[in-house]
Amino acid sequence: KLDAMENPYRWPEDVVDHWLETLRSCELNRYPDPEAKRLTSTLRRLNRLSENIDLLLGNGSDEIIQMLLMALPAGSSVVSPDPSFVMYRQIAHSLGLDYHGIGLDDAFQLDMPSMRRALRDCRPALIFLAFPNNPTGNLFRREDILELLEIAPGLVILDEAYAPFADDTFMNSLEEHANLLVMRTVSKLGLAGLRLGYIAGDKQIIGHLNKIRLPYNINILTQASAEFALNRKNLFDEQIEKIRSERSRLLETMNELEGVAPFPSAANFILFQCMTRPAQEIFDFLLKRGILIKNLSSQKGLPANCLRVTVGKPEENQAFLDALRQILTA
Ligand SMILES: *Cc1c(COP(=O)(O)O)cnc(C)c1O
Repeated sequence: KLDAMENPYRWPEDVVDHWLETLRSCELNRYPDPEAKRLTSTLRRLNRLSENIDLLLGNGSDEIIQMLLMALPAGSSVVSPDPSFVMYRQIAHSLGLDYHGIGLDDAFQLDMPSMRRALRDCRPALIFLAFPNNPTGNLFRREDILELLEIAPGLVILDEAYAPFADDTFMNSLEEHANLLVMRTVSKLGLAGLRLGYIAGDKQIIGHLNKIRLPYNINILTQASAEFALNRKNLFDEQIEKIRSERSRLLETMNELEGVAPFPSAANFILFQCMTRPAQEIFDFLLKRGILIKNLSSQKGLPANCLRVTVGKPEENQAFLDALRQILTA
């Protein structure tokens, strides 16, 4: 299963036992802490947030995207690069907002002339920037983001879902930009099943967002489990290190294969273009061999015939590479 950017690793048995032991004390007959105070303070500490910055938790960052968009006045404009994470567009449309997707340049960087024009003409209340971007895998140029922060008429949301795999972040720039919010999730880190995302930023803005948050959006099992897991950082450090090193190996090997062109990635997936055969044919061939990746050949704004593979365990990646080599040389 190499289609959804999940961390492929489970926990050692003794850690699972310890985790189950902590769940024993959860009172399922009681409502959870509506403010998830303990978990919030753990996340504050791990992200080294200062006093002036507040944090809001969501049922996945998907719910936070929904809260951000629900907080906007009717008729507001929303801008994000395109292609990017599909939920920005989907939720904006479902709320009847005026969404504008702005194409990327050939290197998947922000097309700054078009972005400047969109900001001037649409006056977006909100700009979403996935950093690194999904599905392209790259980080946008820092100076471009800094310029957008300067000229944006509203809020800029940096979606750092792939932060564990990237070497740059805006989490420690929050105090320099009052209109910047940084959003993260534990999903790609290795806890996709828990549904926990968070967003950090200016106290007043987070306070407004908090008004539309449903009181018990983080359930008691998620609060307890995330607290347990995040206090064992070394558990993830090893896994993330393995995923990062497998990412390099996948990229190198794919670069040597005739017939595919992989794009560099700062995330836990690799986008690649199929040069000699239709992407659908390669996707189907892999699927028949039990390997599920993501077919992006009908995604607007990407080069033709693109597929996306999530970095899995070494043996999963090897099975993927073997099958890919097989169809490309058939
Ligand atoms: C996967 C992904 C998310 C979703 O995160 P959840 O916390 O699982 O809802 C958000 N943003 C981007 C860019 C993603 O790729």
